Amino acid sequence: KAKENGRNQHLFFDHKMNEEAEQKASIEHELMLAIKDDQLVLYFQPVTNLKCHRITHAEALIRWNHPEKGLIMPNDFIPIAEESGLIIQLGEWVIDAVCNQLKLWQRVTDDLKICLNVSPIQMMHANLDKQLQASMTRCAPPNGSIIIEITENVMIEGPEKIKEKLDAMKEMGLSFLIDDFGTGFSSMRYLKKLPFDGLKIDRGFVANVDADNEKAVLVQAMIEMAHRLNLKVVAEGVEREEELAYLRSLDCDYVQGYLLGRPMPAEQFLALLTSQQ
Ligand code: C2E
Ligand code: MG
Ligand code: MG
Ligand code: MG
Repeated sequence: KAKENGRNQHLFFDHKMNEEAEQKASIEHELMLAIKDDQLVLYFQPVTNLKCHRITHAEALIRWNHPEKGLIMPNDFIPIAEESGLIIQLGEWVIDAVCNQLKLWQRVTDDLKICLNVSPIQMMHANLDKQLQASMTRCAPPNGSIIIEITENVMIEGPEKIKEKLDAMKEMGLSFLIDDFGTGFSSMRYLKKLPFDGLKIDRGFVANVDADNEKAVLVQAMIEMAHRLNLKVVAEGVEREEELAYLRSLDCDYVQGYLLGRPMPAEQFLALLTSQQ
């Protein structure tokens, strides 16, 4: 009896694994077509400078506008793109789309900066600087208007390897932020060795920072450390007025979150931006 159960369980798992593998393969295939068919779209979330209380940056966040399934969020397809290698093509699409958007917005705003996310796999890929150079040559964005967000995990590869890449990209006029700071492989030693301009405190630390003493201590320490190292600080995931007020009292430089604006299509972002001018 036990043996039989065991066999059934095996069959069950085999079946389930097959199903999952098939599903993944089909998403992979669809994603490949999506890149070609222009089903990908960038949303933009405002980043507000707390010193002047104005939107100074937009974070570009990808969505997949699937013909049947509707809008698919990045957490549901970026990991598949990373595993399959499609992230390289997808990343190239994002870089190009950001440059195009900057070119369009240049006519209406003069100092908006766009932050874009680059996956660690993309970061280590040999062609990243060539992709960036090609798009930037075509669109000629103002110097310093493109900011690249990378997570701490890229440093696992070893700081020497990544430093070379970042230095070369900095020469091209790009800036860098550490994304989701505090959640990954953090080494304080690399913070200043690598050419970062700032860090984004992960929203896990920001939620209820005004009421949670432990989070308050951590966030205050991060901001103080960053400032002493001459790095700017963006707090992610600000949802409540109390969090905003608390972050301001800690001298945080920038805030981003649903309280100040959700990620939105380009036209809507432009309307928001022009309404503050
Ligand atoms: P991320 O770079 O840390 O982006 C911030 C995420 O937090 C976004 O989710 C944003 O919508 C969400 N968020 C912003 N404010 C709030 C808030 O107040 N509350 C809550 N609960 N969430 C907030 P989204 O757009 O679903 O993106 C998820 C992740 O997918 C991003 O995290 C980034 O790691 C990745 N991603 C997005 N676009 C791209 C891309 O173009 N390329 C790559 N490689 N990764 C991307
Ligand atoms: Mg980001
Ligand atoms: Mg983040
Ligand atoms: Mg993230």
